[in-house]
Amino acid sequence: MQRFDVVIVGGGVIGSSAAYFLSANSDFKGSVAVIEKDPTYAEAATPRSAGGVRLQFSTAENVLISAFGAAFIKSADEYLSVGNEGAGIEFREQGYLFLATGAGLKTLLTNQRLQHELGAATQLLNPPELQDNFPWLNTADLAGGSFGPVNEGWTDPYSLLQAFKRKARSQGVTYLNDTVTGIVQEGHHVTGVALASGESIACGHVINAAGIKGRTIAAMAGIDLPVFPRKRFIYVFDCRDEIERVPLTIDPTGVWFRPEGPQFIAGVSPEEHDDPDNEDFELDYRLFEELIWPTLAHRVPAFEAIKLVRAWAGHYDYNAFDQNVIVGFAPGFDNLLLANGFSGHGLQQSPAIGRALSELVTFGQYRTLDLRRFGYDRLATGAALKEVNVV
Ligand SMILES: Cc1cc2nc3c(=O)[nH]c(=O)nc-3n(C[C@H](O)[C@H](O)[C@H](O)COP(=O)(O)OP(=O)(O)OC[C@H]3O[C@@H](n4cnc5c(N)ncnc54)[C@H](O)[C@@H]3O)c2cc1C
Repeated sequence: MQRFDVVIVGGGVIGSSAAYFLSANSDFKGSVAVIEKDPTYAEAATPRSAGGVRLQFSTAENVLISAFGAAFIKSADEYLSVGNEGAGIEFREQGYLFLATGAGLKTLLTNQRLQHELGAATQLLNPPELQDNFPWLNTADLAGGSFGPVNEGWTDPYSLLQAFKRKARSQGVTYLNDTVTGIVQEGHHVTGVALASGESIACGHVINAAGIKGRTIAAMAGIDLPVFPRKRFIYVFDCRDEIERVPLTIDPTGVWFRPEGPQFIAGVSPEEHDDPDNEDFELDYRLFEELIWPTLAHRVPAFEAIKLVRAWAGHYDYNAFDQNVIVGFAPGFDNLLLANGFSGHGLQQSPAIGRALSELVTFGQYRTLDLRRFGYDRLATGAALKEVNVV
């Protein structure tokens, strides 16, 4: 039987980041295997993501996690080059712009204070300032907006995943194409994983980075995670008129848009009561026609004459308890780690969460960012750490 010191279930951006940070950590001397059931990532969340990075969160840890994520992505060549080959990752630092009517302004103000305390450059803009900065915007019904010009923008998700993977492999990590079907335990101690191929792998630690299958993997060890697959759509459209300096903009209705090369992409998250668990890829064009397009046309007059080009669906691992990641040791285990329930933020969180997991495996505790409040314990005590800025 093969043995690895650490087995990571799932080789998406989270599993691959953990593999990179473990293999880059000079205090970690062990071997690492990533088990990925589909190396094409055809249905994984990572390549279907919008790639957004922002510091505008309502939970302190999320601000700090993304600050590290932005810094890491900006310096990706330093960390993720292999030989003469650069990381190939671009960061479009065009900012995030949250817009508010009177009802939402107080929340923006509260969040901006927290973000400032933590070093973010978030600016609160009144309607005339919004108009000056973004002349293409209809501000008539707005009370204000918050704009993050530094360390906010977007990156290409697939490039980030591939760069983590390439670098991890160059540092000795093994990627295996197989499906984890069981977790082998002796009491509350994991000793290995069983695979669909019939093989078993012995290991010292297991990291659950299985995306929307995180709940299934946790259940194999008897743990209940409130993490469910939620479908999101991204619509790509052309706009005839040129509009400039467009940040990732979030309308008070929740409809968001941003440039994507010469085109734009847009989407919206449904209300909680209208958001069933879903793993299919069926597209909903009515959502675009009936909600997204009218909202876009109202907010940006130039968007009245847009042309829908294509769309895609993807699923993220939604933590129904409080929309924040559940990271750390599984309850009662000293060698089973969870990284689940990212609720649409996992791409930007991948550097900090990968580093955090490598610290927990190596030192048994966090050494840089203290993420204990994001541990499983809060589920048991009912102490939700609600993130209100979920896009
Ligand atoms: C439409 C959309 C837009 C998004 N926009 C953003 C954004 O703007 N910013 C942001 O930060 N995040 C965004 N996200 C969220 C982000 O994409 C995810 O949080 C992140 O990609 C999660 O990475 P992951 O590695 O956990 O999951 P995945 O990328 O899904 O990887 C999990 C992997 O585990 C594998 N796996 C599952 N079960 C098994 C098993 N039993 N054995 C072996 N392998 C297994 C799967 O094949 C998969 O490849 C978005 C997501 C979607 C869907």
